[in-house]
Amino acid sequence: MDCIFCKIVNKEIKSDIIFENENLVGFNDINPVAPTHILFVPRKHIDRLDNVESEDIKLIGELIFQAKEYAKKIGLNNSGYRLVFNTGKDAGQAVFHIHLHLIGGRLMSWPPG
Ligand code: AMP
Ligand code: ZN
Repeated sequence: MDCIFCKIVNKEIKSDIIFENENLVGFNDINPVAPTHILFVPRKHIDRLDNVESEDIKLIGELIFQAKEYAKKIGLNNSGYRLVFNTGKDAGQAVFHIHLHLIGGRLMSWPPG
């Protein structure tokens, strides 16, 4: 399968990995939109959030849990941060291996563009 995030998870291509455990990998986004912009991905390939199954509930919970733990570790819990899953065309999903964006370190507007 030609999936760039599977290749990052399997260390077939280089990335700036900041977190890993048996289920997840976190790495710096190559094109950051804020001072902190990290992607948390499951090692398991799931192409989009719509295809998450009930057997993946714990995995998705862990993705959110580890992202917030990391945000706390780097001190973003006081200033705040955003966790985002872009899903499908209208949201601008570009990589079809689910990933949770952790974005922070600057003031953000709402609603998003
Ligand atoms: P999305 O629009 O939610 O699918 O976002 C995909 C994200 O992956 C974008 O923010 C890209 O900058 C990022 N990205 C794409 N390729 C790489 C890569 N090789 N290493 C790190 N981040 C990447
Ligand atoms: Zn993949």
